[in-house]
Amino acid sequence: MNQLIVATHNRNKFKEMAESLSGAGWEVLPGYDFPGMPQVEEDGTTLEDNSLKKARVVSEFTRLPALSDDTGLFVDALDGRPGIYAARFAGDNCTYEDNVRKLLGLMAGVPQGKRSAFFRTVITLYYPDGQFWQVAGEVRGNIVTEARGQEGFGYDPVFRPSGSSKVFAEMTLEEKNKISHRGLAVQKARELLKVI
Ligand code: IMP
Repeated sequence: MNQLIVATHNRNKFKEMAESLSGAGWEVLPGYDFPGMPQVEEDGTTLEDNSLKKARVVSEFTRLPALSDDTGLFVDALDGRPGIYAARFAGDNCTYEDNVRKLLGLMAGVPQGKRSAFFRTVITLYYPDGQFWQVAGEVRGNIVTEARGQEGFGYDPVFRPSGSSKVFAEMTLEEKNKISHRGLAVQKARELLKVI
């Protein structure tokens, strides 16, 4: 089976992407298992830039096709923040809990009906010969007022996708993947992998 490297250091992202890619005919391996894998500084100004950079570095290092993900959370009441800076929203070395606390703090007093937000993921598929393709996935929803649920990562305890009574952190991996920004983007990447 041909190997495909998922260009991430994030174990949760790897688990979600590997599950969405299962049965696609590729052996899917995490980038973090390769000794000496370079750390990529996410210094781009768009999800596309950062996603491309991660996939390119990993593909050049491993000489194998690489698939990366860069994700942002865009909250309407905060003029699109945290946006592409979702990882370090509460500062350098912050935890997921710090970010959730900061988000809920900034949203205190924002009424139901004005708490809309969306996640956007850009996936890059990069081949060692320098060819690459990009696909995106988005999901709209609302920021709830209190964190709940035990699954997932990041902002999952406070993001309730439209049409669902559960936040992402109350869903199984399979349930989240069916409707999430990342799940939808990986479905498109699966189609690409069939034809290229
Ligand atoms: P990255 O820059 O793509 O690694 O992701 C930025 C940040 O967005 C992560 O550190 C998480 O806090 C958050 N994030 C990314 N994907 C998800 C998700 O699927 N659910 C909740 N939070 C996420």
